[in-house]
Amino acid sequence: MKIGIMGGTFDPIHIGHLLLGEFAYEEFGLDEIWYLPNGNPPHKQQYEEKDALKHRVEMIRRAIKDVPYFKLCLHEAKENSHSYTYKTMQELNALYPDNDFYFILGADSLFSIEDWKYFREIFPTCTILAAMRDDKDMTDMKEKMQELEQKYHAKIRLLQVPLLDISSTMLRRRASNGQSICYMVPDAVAEYIKKHYLYQKRKQDDSRFGEHSKET
Ligand code: ATP
Ligand code: MG
Repeated sequence: MKIGIMGGTFDPIHIGHLLLGEFAYEEFGLDEIWYLPNGNPPHKQQYEEKDALKHRVEMIRRAIKDVPYFKLCLHEAKENSHSYTYKTMQELNALYPDNDFYFILGADSLFSIEDWKYFREIFPTCTILAAMRDDKDMTDMKEKMQELEQKYHAKIRLLQVPLLDISSTMLRRRASNGQSICYMVPDAVAEYIKKHYLYQKRKQDDSRFGEHSKET
């Protein structure tokens, strides 16, 4: 099988992540997309939340539940630990020797990949599908792809997706300011965030989210 691996923190998962999976699935004829949330590295807690990993995983579950070819891969989902991508990919190849892996990432990750631990070891394990994150990326990205291919024999393909200027950082900030995050995350994820008061400065209910009459 051809498997797309969509790695990330997913704090929270948003429609940018889902579109990447959907377009990679379609464009490259993949069989499945595995969403791979990383663990909670002890030194890099983004916000104070003891169940951060559990919440990130639960939000992915809800976001992908109706899509048969989107799966959750818990290989890196361990508390207080950090997994290296090269190691995960080597392990996935060993566990599933008949699969071909396609590692999906956004432009920002492609540009920083040489800072990843033992990044050279990633390239033999998969084909990288790199998506633009904004329209300034295109020329730079093609150059970066060529450079990585030449220097490290990386296999990299351009993944064309509609550009969406949405990030988890922006969603955390909006939620913490009491602003709406609807349309940017699946409804089930927005409901989950609201129910568990994720990313909120104060744990209190907000009337903006209450029941409203549709009739004027
Ligand atoms: P944060 O703001 O917390 O860094 P993020 O939105 O960048 O969150 P990550 O979990 O860091 O999400 O990203 C996982 C992968 O998805 C990365 O490879 C990232 O480049 C990619 N990605 C995230 N959002 C988008 C987007 N809107 N368009 C294209 N790629 C994206
Ligand atoms: Mg990011």
